[in-house]
Amino acid sequence: MFDVIIIGGGPAGLSAALVLARCRRQLLLCDNGQPRNARSSSLHGFLSRDCIPPLELLRLGREELKPYGVAPRETTVTDLVHLEDSFEATLDGREKVRARMALIASGVRDHPPEIPGLDECYGVTVHHCPYCDGWEHRDQTIAVIGRGTSGAALALSLKTWTSRVMLCTHGARTMRRCDRTRLEKEQIHVRSAPIVRIDHDGPNVRAITFGDGASVPCEAIFFSARQSQRCELAERLGCEMNRRGAVKSGPLGETHIPGLYVVGDASRDVQFAIVAAAEGAKAAAAINKALQRRAGLAVEPVDAGSDARTRARTETTRA
Ligand SMILES: Cc1cc2nc3c(=O)[nH]c(=O)nc-3n(C[C@H](O)[C@H](O)[C@H](O)COP(=O)(O)OP(=O)(O)OC[C@H]3O[C@@H](n4cnc5c(N)ncnc54)[C@H](O)[C@@H]3O)c2cc1C
Repeated sequence: MFDVIIIGGGPAGLSAALVLARCRRQLLLCDNGQPRNARSSSLHGFLSRDCIPPLELLRLGREELKPYGVAPRETTVTDLVHLEDSFEATLDGREKVRARMALIASGVRDHPPEIPGLDECYGVTVHHCPYCDGWEHRDQTIAVIGRGTSGAALALSLKTWTSRVMLCTHGARTMRRCDRTRLEKEQIHVRSAPIVRIDHDGPNVRAITFGDGASVPCEAIFFSARQSQRCELAERLGCEMNRRGAVKSGPLGETHIPGLYVVGDASRDVQFAIVAAAEGAKAAAAINKALQRRAGLAVEPVDAGSDARTRARTETTRA
């Protein structure tokens, strides 16, 4: 019986593993080697690691676990079942393991638009997050591929990084009047013709060719598109999803299932590696606390209903 099974060895899972290993917890860290940002050439905005290759960050994280005797196991958790006070996980559809607590940090999968040429530039000059890659394309000509309000929002947001933004709706012609007015005000030209291909030199975008014959030069593309959970374990366990398809969890990653925590991109809106790592650390502390509670090693907090005298006594004891 492990104390904790961690599903996903990205920034969230690795960070949780580090905190739990330092709490002397018996861990099983499972990862099947599909980090979300594998296609990116450089990870930005991670304090002390700005511009590091994404896979190097993971290598460093795994390296830091070694002194604690933790090595991620290369395996896919294919099933996770909640038992009375533990979880049973199935690895690669065969092996069964048990753990008292489960932390899902399995991330999400992006679905970039399927346009010839786009994939060749993805992660270098084609991106989806301005916070992650906007700086690298400051003052360049940027095309946004997106529809409706989310496309308009992304185009408007990119005006923070450059004055030259256009919005390509790739065949969609309807847009809320208020969005169109705002785009016009910001001089963001909207092209609704379907895109035929992205012209590029290696991974560098050069132009977008449209179905109406136009070819418009640009230096970078940002897209807004659908994403989905990398694995369905949380959903299958009955976790609630929000309207963006993320697992609903509390501030420490806790779910309505006792002992089940979900953190990182799988559960949150702010999808940065450093945020995922912080969420992993917070959930790890909560899990350790829960295990301490089960072992009778935690004092219950004074509840709101206690009278003032009890509270005063507790404060005196603490002091
Ligand atoms: C192209 C691109 C560029 C980005 N650039 C930046 C950037 O510059 N700065 C930044 O802060 N963020 C960036 N991000 C976002 C960043 O990648 C994520 O916020 C971060 O990776 C989330 O970490 P995570 O641990 O939640 O998930 P992930 O990093 O996706 O890790 C999840 C892990 O779980 C594993 N897994 C999934 N299901 C299972 C299963 N059933 N069994 C075993 N293992 C499983 C996967 O293989 C994966 O290794 C970028 C994202 C993309 C797509």
